Amino acid sequence: KVEQEAIWRRSKALENDGLDTLREVSRQEYLKKREQKKLDELKDDIEDEQYLFQGEKLTETEYREQRYKKEIYELVKKRAVEYDYTNEYRMPDAYDDVEGGVNQEKRFDVAFQRYRDPVAAEEKMNPFAEQEAWEEHQIGKATLKFGSKDIKKPKKYDDYEFVFEDFIKVAVMDGVNVEQEELLCSVHTPTASSSAKTAFEKIQSDRKTLPVYPYREELLRAINDHQILVIVGETGSGKTTQIPQYLHEAGYTSRGKIACTQPRRVAAMSVAARVSQEMGVKLGHEVGYSIRFEDCTSEKTILKYMTDGMLLREFLGEPDLASYSVVMVDEAHERTLSTDILFGLVKDIARFRPDLKLLISSATLDAEKFSDYFDSAPIFKIPGRRFPVEIHYTKAPEADYLDAAIVTALQIHVTQPPGDGDILIFLTGQEEIETAKEILKHRTSELGTKIAELIICPIYANLPTELQSKIFEPTPEGARKVILATNIAETSLTIDGIKYVIDPGFVKMKSYNPRTGMESLLVTPISKASANQRAGRSGRTGPGKCFRLYTAYNYYNDLDDNTVPEIQRTNLANVVLSLKSLGINDLLNFDFMDPPPSEALLKALELLYALSALNKHGELTKVGRRMAEFPLDPMLSKMIVASEKYQCSDEAISIAAMLSIGNSIFYRPKDKQVHADNAHLNFHMGNVGDHMALLKVYNSWKDTNFSTQWCYENYIQVRSMKRARDIRDQLEGLLERVEIEITTNPNDLDAIKKAITSGFFPHSAKLQKNGSYRTVKHPQTAHIHPSSGLAQVLPRWVVYHGLVLTTKEYMHQVTQLKPEWLVEIAPHYYHLKD
Ligand code: ADP
Ligand code: MG
Repeated sequence: KVEQEAIWRRSKALENDGLDTLREVSRQEYLKKREQKKLDELKDDIEDEQYLFQGEKLTETEYREQRYKKEIYELVKKRAVEYDYTNEYRMPDAYDDVEGGVNQEKRFDVAFQRYRDPVAAEEKMNPFAEQEAWEEHQIGKATLKFGSKDIKKPKKYDDYEFVFEDFIKVAVMDGVNVEQEELLCSVHTPTASSSAKTAFEKIQSDRKTLPVYPYREELLRAINDHQILVIVGETGSGKTTQIPQYLHEAGYTSRGKIACTQPRRVAAMSVAARVSQEMGVKLGHEVGYSIRFEDCTSEKTILKYMTDGMLLREFLGEPDLASYSVVMVDEAHERTLSTDILFGLVKDIARFRPDLKLLISSATLDAEKFSDYFDSAPIFKIPGRRFPVEIHYTKAPEADYLDAAIVTALQIHVTQPPGDGDILIFLTGQEEIETAKEILKHRTSELGTKIAELIICPIYANLPTELQSKIFEPTPEGARKVILATNIAETSLTIDGIKYVIDPGFVKMKSYNPRTGMESLLVTPISKASANQRAGRSGRTGPGKCFRLYTAYNYYNDLDDNTVPEIQRTNLANVVLSLKSLGINDLLNFDFMDPPPSEALLKALELLYALSALNKHGELTKVGRRMAEFPLDPMLSKMIVASEKYQCSDEAISIAAMLSIGNSIFYRPKDKQVHADNAHLNFHMGNVGDHMALLKVYNSWKDTNFSTQWCYENYIQVRSMKRARDIRDQLEGLLERVEIEITTNPNDLDAIKKAITSGFFPHSAKLQKNGSYRTVKHPQTAHIHPSSGLAQVLPRWVVYHGLVLTTKEYMHQVTQLKPEWLVEIAPHYYHLKD
């Protein structure tokens, strides 16, 4: 067969060349020639009655189809080489060095493979080169805009391979071996829908097809018989949307509300929206949600979906949760910090509130741990019907997971009939998702009508609400949906109709160093448990396929079994303050499911003491009590509480609101960067520092009566500003609650800066001779982030809002400070050297 193929190739090549003497043609040369051929020439081939494709004899129709597919692959491949978007993301193995596993050789290989140029490879070997490029690119940039001009950079690849060459063969030639495994997943039967039904009736009948439905009575009986119940069921079985409704239907809401906690804001909002639809009520009436700075509930609300952090805050106002009859701690397997703290608190109140029902629900099967913790509470398993999922691994590690993911998605799209299932890609964050979206858009538009329509749906926490529901819209006939999601789609949200999952194997995860107090957000490999959850998303409605962009070896040897609970890798100052204000003083003996490192606890206590929130005995002070009222980081709360003294509470809450928005205020479109930068410069005039610049933005906007036009003119994101205004309004309400008068002191810059320093004095840094900074309390090197207005100014002393490790330790939101303030404001913390 091989010989036959070779002969065929050669004869074809001769024909193509139009030579009449026999000549050996290399395979490379031949392929090159063939690629240059146009479609009509290919059609001529067909007329040769030589229906040979990759050495196989085919029927004419098969042949045509294969040639057509092949042509599309070539197109997809060609697109892949034309763009270089290395600036947009980092290489996953850029972290080898950070983790301590230095592998220069491998990195060189990877780099060399990509750039085919030893010098470029050497250059790119710098593990942070890409990150640095990315950082540069990100600086000050709020929204990614792709112009075709920007993408088409010189070709850097000589060759390009598909990620799953084998899969292509499977698709094209039908059935060659791939490295695969089977994983079982639950599924629900498709609805028997009749067109005569109204939308509402359809929703009602859909509810009955969910895996939990047959167990409704049994479940209600179990809840009736036991105070605490652990519920386990695959994602999509109906735990979140159905169980609270069953409880309502069974009368539990006549004696109080039902709370259902979610680790993520988007999930709380989306699920509440769905349930209100199912119940035929307006969102915010009987069914509502509550997330930080956004309360969509009313007097009428009986089913309340909320983030776990919000329920934690409700304890502050209502320590026995008297207004609730049921608390469902949902997505318990996620083990967020707030969920872990909630465990301890609800377990405690369940003891003296026998009428309170407690449900702990989880999507993973390791429920014994929950059961053990809750005094051997019974476990209710919701069985799911199962479809097999084929797992595919790559043969070698992928240097560019984003690119690999995109190519794989396109590959699936062009090789599989549309309508057989949608694609879900797991990415690490908003920027990455937006980048992937633009690239996909661009490439599919180049392919034009040659391929079926591909609907691209991003989903991440900051996505505007009106766009979030797009992922749930049914895919139109003849089209395919590709969903670009963060970890939110792993278990929190169930999207029907997914058949293909592409899993690069990474997640953005917070880590915390209690010694330095430094928090970092790093892209890290996921755990095996996560990988299996992700794979499971593909097998809900039929057999699925999961493409892991890492090797089987990586999976078995490199991935941890489970993700470390957040409580063990985060700054605890906030929860310690909450617990203290709940009167829980003995934190070392708090009933943690997995206790945090004692170093992290001590660090939190130390910080709260320094901020005067706790006294020497570790008891809450008046300052601490006031601070606890604000749903903010303790240092920000302290800044607000301290602003009373400097008569600038008005300014302090504006600054706090603006800081709470994150870095999405300044907008810097690619084609108008210079304009944008000039506009932004106005706010930094006089090198006032980033906090004052934010204040100036807010106040200027307010002076224009919150004009949208003003935002456009000044390259400010209007949506972020509106959110800042909402937050500010709420902070204003809280000021009243802690009896701090609203006072404004607009002309006394030093007073405002002193208020900031009162909260952030632990974050002070001093300039070094080499232009870097050294943090004062726990000495370490840091740099002003290039997006700061003070990045070129380099004042001698600064306070910063946050320190984040990316390529370097960067200080974000920086303001100049006089060193004597430190001793004046925090004499217990800083001493003058003689
Ligand atoms: P679980 O909590 O067990 O993972 P859910 O109750 O979240 O399951 O989901 C049950 C069903 O409800 C799923 O089929 C899901 O697709 C559907 N669903 C959930 N939220 C929405 C929404 N916002 N829009 C449309 N369908 C939804
Ligand atoms: Mg759920």
